[in-house]
Amino acid sequence: MLGRVVKWLRVIGQDVTYGQHLTGYGLIRAARAESRLILTRDRRLKQKQPPPFMFIASDHYREQLRQVIQECGLKPGDGMFTRCVECNTVLQPRSKETVEKIVPPYVFSTQEKFSWCAQCQRVYWPATHHEKMLEELRTIGIG
Ligand SMILES: [Zn+2]
Repeated sequence: MLGRVVKWLRVIGQDVTYGQHLTGYGLIRAARAESRLILTRDRRLKQKQPPPFMFIASDHYREQLRQVIQECGLKPGDGMFTRCVECNTVLQPRSKETVEKIVPPYVFSTQEKFSWCAQCQRVYWPATHHEKMLEELRTIGIG
């Protein structure tokens, strides 16, 4: 239910864990162990005496993102595009020569900077999708 906002929080560099395994007491245990803030849409969570949590009221990811950024006082900026949106791993720079066989030829010929996720092997490059994301953040009123 929060999958989309999780990806957006990673886009702006936030360390966010997400997954099917994070339910019920498993969620509470994991949050305690890693000192994380829980984002939840489950009103029953309160009864389980959880560590700090934020109840996400809206069904819409833009509202959700705005709520988290405001209530956590996040300042999207420097951390932007430093984390894999799929698995949360911090990205590493990768030289152009090493991605020649991995990325589409057009991307290779037009891009200079690449980074990659050592966990899921995805290669990232700034380009139109960065632009679109920045535009999206501006639409929401961030950045
Ligand atoms: Zn990854």
